[in-house]
Amino acid sequence: MTFFKYCPNCKSQNFEFPNNVRFHCNDCGFTYFHNIAAAVAVIFTFEDKILFTVRNVDPDRGKWDLPGGFIDPNENAEQAACREIQEELNLLILPKDLHYITTAPNNYLYKNVPYRTMDIFYECQLKSDVLKINAEDEISDLIWVKRSEIKLNQIGFVSIQKVIKEQYCIEI
Ligand SMILES: [Zn+2]
Repeated sequence: MTFFKYCPNCKSQNFEFPNNVRFHCNDCGFTYFHNIAAAVAVIFTFEDKILFTVRNVDPDRGKWDLPGGFIDPNENAEQAACREIQEELNLLILPKDLHYITTAPNNYLYKNVPYRTMDIFYECQLKSDVLKINAEDEISDLIWVKRSEIKLNQIGFVSIQKVIKEQYCIEI
C-alpha cells in the first residue's frame, strides 16, 4: 500500500516507496523521506491510579489514550508535553515535574496516511485527581484507573499498550 499515487514533483507513476519510508521517483529523481515523527505522552499518577483520556477523534476514537501529542518544530520533548497538557487539560506543569520513563514506536493512520511515530513517555505525579477536559473536540472523557484494573484491550495505540503493560499493570 502506498499513499502517493503520483510523484509530487513530475506526476510520474514510475516511483519506488518501499515500506513507505523513502519515496524515489525514477523519472525526475525527486526523493522524499517519510520519517518518523516524535510525540510525547504523559502518565499522570495519583495514589494507585493512572489517568487515561478517552479519544474523541480518529484514529482509535473511543479508546483509552494518554495526554500528549506531536512535538512541534523547535520544541524539545518536555516543552511539547507541558504545552499539550495545558491545551488538553488546562493544567500547568513544568519540565521538572516530568520523569522520563521510556520510548516506544507507534503507528498513526490519519486520513489514510500511515505515520510512524516515536512516542516519548513521562510520568507526572499529581497531588489531586481533580482534572477537567479543556480540549473537548479531542477528548471525550477522563478516567482514573487503578493499576490492578487496567484493561489493556481498551487502549488504542500499541506504544501505550506496551508501556502500560510492562511498567504499570499490576496483575492480581
Ligand atoms: Zn518525479
